Amino acid sequence: MAHLLSLDLASLAALPCCAATLHAKGQHPRYLADAAARHYAHRDLAALEHDLGRSLPDGATIAAGIGTLTLLRHEVLWNPVHVAPQADPAPARRLASAELQSARLAACVTCGRLGEGGCEVAGCRCTGMGDPTALLSRCPLNRWPDSEPI
Ligand code: SF4
Repeated sequence: MAHLLSLDLASLAALPCCAATLHAKGQHPRYLADAAARHYAHRDLAALEHDLGRSLPDGATIAAGIGTLTLLRHEVLWNPVHVAPQADPAPARRLASAELQSARLAACVTCGRLGEGGCEVAGCRCTGMGDPTALLSRCPLNRWPDSEPI
């Protein structure tokens, strides 16, 4: 049975994927949890275990800090699922600058994976991926000019 994996603030803040969020927004646990959920969605369990430096229990989930995204451990992958939204208001959504949005969209137009509903690789935008307008989104294929190294 799945159970919530609560990563403490220090663990979240130490994850490499949270560095940009930490810089942009400070040590807000909901922002950091959201950044972690976005980063590890569809990735192998071992990636988070490696970054944390410890193993994780079977059936673990990662509850993002914003909205309804939760990552459910399924075999060897983190899969996004939906849960009830948190009761208190989510922090304001941060938009990328117009220049960054344009640069990202230019990459999307030429990559061949942009469908009518958005990025076909990222799927639902609730994962936080493939949304050129969102400052902290990322391209699932690392094709944006501000992509993180794999
Ligand atoms: S987000 Fe990445 S993979 Fe998706 S359409 Fe844009 S460039 Fe292609």
